[in-house]
Amino acid sequence: MIEKQQKTIAGVMFSGGLDSAATLVYALNNYDKVLPICFGIGGTQQRIEAIAQEKVWRMLSKTRHYKNKLLLTYSVNVKDVFRHSQSALQTGKNFVEGEYDEKAHEAFNVPYRNVVFASISTSIIESFVTGAYDEYNGWRGVVLSGVHGRDNGEKTYLDCEESCWDTLNELSRNYTYSKIFTEAPFVNLTKAGVVLYVADNAFCDWRKLIKATASCYNPTSQDEPCGKCPTCIERTQAIEKAEKEFR
Ligand SMILES: [Zn+2]
Repeated sequence: MIEKQQKTIAGVMFSGGLDSAATLVYALNNYDKVLPICFGIGGTQQRIEAIAQEKVWRMLSKTRHYKNKLLLTYSVNVKDVFRHSQSALQTGKNFVEGEYDEKAHEAFNVPYRNVVFASISTSIIESFVTGAYDEYNGWRGVVLSGVHGRDNGEKTYLDCEESCWDTLNELSRNYTYSKIFTEAPFVNLTKAGVVLYVADNAFCDWRKLIKATASCYNPTSQDEPCGKCPTCIERTQAIEKAEKEFR
């Protein structure tokens, strides 16, 4: 967490998945105002994520402890940026089922995506603290991502690594005269660790909150998670593991 000297508005890259919902909780616990920033990327996950975004937002905005802290979601359409991406997430083809392995890692990779999101989020927050809204003029900003590590030193995407977020933090600080920081609070936690963070720190029913999140790569036509893609499996295992440790 960055040192708190002045009022801070936090922009959270928010997909509606477990990790980004946990990041919203973290931001609500630590900063004065929180702006969820949602990126419309098209592809297979879009609908199920939009439903989850709405549910999570509602639940947190109704939480008494977070009263008046959570701002309306800021939606950004970046569909065209990823229009030609060959990731299975965008093409909807060549899905890989089962746990994350080398093959799945490759199939779902969208290089640089988190960096694109972080850059756009920094620009949005920068406009908030430099006069777009009188209320936030002169505040400090922070941009947060819910990236996390994997179990047993498994490979993560390059833009989920700590070095990437250290670099982004340095860039945002240097380019905004230290008005905007970048933070990835869970970068050294596993996904189960992220669930435990929510269990220990959310001021709402944490199981209900986790249940409201969604992040399936290949949802059914009824917008239900498939249960078979790497992200569904990783999510289920993390929740089970966290439940065991929580008791
Ligand atoms: Zn799935």
